[in-house]
Amino acid sequence: MSDRYAVIGNPVAHSKSPSIHAEFARATGQDIEYGRIEAPLDGFARAVERFRAAGGKGLNVTLPFKQEAFALYRDASDRARVAKAANTLALDRSFADNTDGVGLVRDITGNLGQPLKGKRLLLLGAGGAAQAVVGALLDAGIAQLTIANRTVQRARDLAARFAGSLGCGYDALAGKSFDIVVNATSAGLADESPPLPAGVLGRHTLAYDMVYGRETPFLAAARSAGARSADGLGMLVEQAAESFFVWRGVFPATRPVLEKLRGA
Ligand code: NAP
Repeated sequence: MSDRYAVIGNPVAHSKSPSIHAEFARATGQDIEYGRIEAPLDGFARAVERFRAAGGKGLNVTLPFKQEAFALYRDASDRARVAKAANTLALDRSFADNTDGVGLVRDITGNLGQPLKGKRLLLLGAGGAAQAVVGALLDAGIAQLTIANRTVQRARDLAARFAGSLGCGYDALAGKSFDIVVNATSAGLADESPPLPAGVLGRHTLAYDMVYGRETPFLAAARSAGARSADGLGMLVEQAAESFFVWRGVFPATRPVLEKLRGA
């Protein structure tokens, strides 16, 4: 019988994870089956336990359960501890991990060919996604990290946890410029953009939106400012590859999967 894995969230019907992991399994010859579980909002732990008891080996965790997933096990990776959230559970060894940060860094440096070392980076948002990537961005050697958020105190609180980073509101960005701007807000899902002052996005900027599969106002603004732009599909594939490695000890090639998803 194939080893069983799944993505768990609410909602989860839209998730591309099953097709990504099916491609990884085919390409690496790993015998796995990967499904979807929509857990009730008040029933995450029960749904995980049901899947584990039925032989499930691992889960990817998506909104809104990443914080709950982290709280499930005592054994967690350093990157999950820093994020205070888990997107990967190895049920067979009661282990929680978070692969979002390394996924973002690999997409920017590998797929997009944009070095991070020594760069000035602006991170928009201070929610779960922003929190998950700060550690990996700093580890990648960025020179200066500014975190801006609508609720300013959340940006300040997040920045206070990381030496050398600064938290602020959007108004404080006026007159500033950055090499890379990562939009880790969910504004794009509501067809909105974080209120960036004019001039923050310019011809020299890489503008990266973690949201994927739609033309967000942030990406449209980046393009009209002449900036290079990228959505979060590559991050999705790279974080999945790292999860696959955590579970199976084999690292799948990501480029063919990303190209296939972009083609579709
Ligand atoms: P979250 O915890 O709910 O945080 C949402 C963030 O967006 C908060 O900082 C919030 O600001 C901000 N925000 C929401 N609407 C806004 C608006 N209209 N203007 C300005 N800021 C706004 O969500 P999350 O877990 O961090 O996820 C954020 C996004 O990242 C989601 O869209 C998710 O799909 C995406 N994501 C992508 C990947 C990938 O692999 N590509 C991985 C993880 C997440 P306040 O604090 O002021 O409310």
